[in-house]
Order: sequence, then C-alpha cells, then structure tokens
Amino acid sequence: MATHLISHRNCLFHDTGYEHAERPDRLRMVMQYLDEETFPELQRHEASLANEELLLLAHTQEHVQNIKDRRPASGIVQLDPDTFMSPGSYEAALRAVGAAIDAVDIVMTEKDANVFCATRPPGHHAEADQVMGFCLFNNAAIAAYYARQKYGIERVAVIDFDVHHGNGTQHIFEKDQNLFYGSTHQAPPFYPGTGHAHETGVGNIVNVPLEEGSGSTAFRDAMTSHVLPALEKFNPELLIISAGFDAHHKDPLANINLVEEDYDWITKELKRIANKCCENRIVSLLEGGYDLLGLAQSAKTHVKALLDD
Ligand SMILES: [Zn+2]
Repeated sequence: MATHLISHRNCLFHDTGYEHAERPDRLRMVMQYLDEETFPELQRHEASLANEELLLLAHTQEHVQNIKDRRPASGIVQLDPDTFMSPGSYEAALRAVGAAIDAVDIVMTEKDANVFCATRPPGHHAEADQVMGFCLFNNAAIAAYYARQKYGIERVAVIDFDVHHGNGTQHIFEKDQNLFYGSTHQAPPFYPGTGHAHETGVGNIVNVPLEEGSGSTAFRDAMTSHVLPALEKFNPELLIISAGFDAHHKDPLANINLVEEDYDWITKELKRIANKCCENRIVSLLEGGYDLLGLAQSAKTHVKALLDD
C-alpha cells in the first residue's frame, strides 16, 4: 500500500480572525505531527489549484460568484455567523479542493494507493448554494462528482466521523442512489441541527446521532451496527472519508469522548471495506478538530493506520 499526503502552505493564509477555532495553527500542528522524520514512507505532494469548473460540479454558479465577489483586499469579512474570509482564503479554499481532486487522480490511476489531504478550510457543511460552519466549498462532494466525471465510476461513498453532521454533503447527495453518505455525530440539536436517523435520502443516507457525553463504545457500536454494513452493501467504487477529529475527548467545541485508538480502529475498518469493494481506494479529507494536540495526535494515528498493511 502506498500512502500519499497532500497539503499546501497557502492553506495557512486563510485567516479567520482572532480566537477563531478553525485557525492556521491547526494545520501547522497536523503537518508537524506528519513530518518526514516520523513518516519517511509517505509520498508528499503540493495541492494543485482547483479551477472554477470543478467547483461547479457541486455548487451553483451564484455560490461561486458570491464567494469571489466577497473576497476582501485586506482585513476579514464575515460570510455567516461562523465563516470568515481574508485575502488568502479563496486560494486556500481552491487548494483544499485541488488536494481532493489530486487525491482522486492518485487513487484512480495508481494501484493500492490511499491519500490523506491535510488542508483547510474544511468542507462538509458547505451547501450547493451557501457557505456554512467554516466551510466555503464542499471538498468531498466535488471530489465524488469529479471521480465520476473523469473516471466513469458511479458509486461513491463518503463516511464522515467528524463530530458535526455534514449537512452539505448529505443535501448534495440525498437524491442520488449512487452516492452514499454515512455519518456519526453528536446528536441534534447540536450544530448544525441536521443528521437525525430518519434522514435517509433515497435509502443512501445513514445517520447515527451519538448522545452528548458518549464515547468509544457508542461510536464503535454505531459504526459496526449501522454505518459499516450499509457501506459494505452499497459497495462503493471509491471511498472518501470526511476525517474530522473533533469527536476527540479533548475537543472544546463538542462533547463526544473518542480517543486516538478509535481513529485507528475506524480507519482499519474502512480499509477493510475498501479492500473488499474498491481496490483500496481511499481519499481522506481533513474536516474539523479544534484541540491542537487532540487533532494532531488523532490525524497522526489515522495516517499511520492508512499506511499500515
Ligand atoms: Zn466538526
């Protein structure tokens, strides 16, 4: 198995303002924990810059234009209660999309390869027509549509273990039976308020809300009893992971108590299914995670599990 790491230094220039949880230090810390000394075997790449056509695979022209129009020349603009843009944000967002696209190219053209994209801003809250919850463009949804368009595959799955429900990905996918979205997250009314178990799309959406305060046992039960069997049955040709690490017990934004071993476990479970269904093709995209140490240690555990045979 060859494991690739895609990132770009310009993702650090998305400035969200003083004391914002989704801050450049998140990515600095992750990259420090994924350094060459620790992971000499990782194949490292700089993310390419996505073009506008790629954005339109999952977003409306109005949405793309709105973000372009609101790019500030200096300072920081607020796009919604949680989402901000600085002069460097647009390029950072295009690098985050570009990384996801590059990752699809790698797993679709190389045998037995998986990829982790260490980028920001995250994507899973971004709707087809609006920014939301720190997210400008939905990196995972764009990657799914790109894989279909470029490589002629049909069935793409996104598994999302971020502590927040990926409302954007679900809404973009929910009418298409060849796209699958499975998520565990802290139960609504927790942000963003969606992700109830009864939200099932056309049978292609599996949501397992976790009660506030729950931990490893509830998470593993939810995955083992609901998400993973449905994923296996869906039989994806490509597996995308929305890898948020904010269900970690140290995270300040949520209250689910996962430990690093849980990320090792879920990564290996997803690899087992990818091995069975889709020639090991896994594209993993960084979403949330707001305790710097919890985030970096969890991301390191996840990448180590992606690497291990
Ligand atoms: Zn999150």
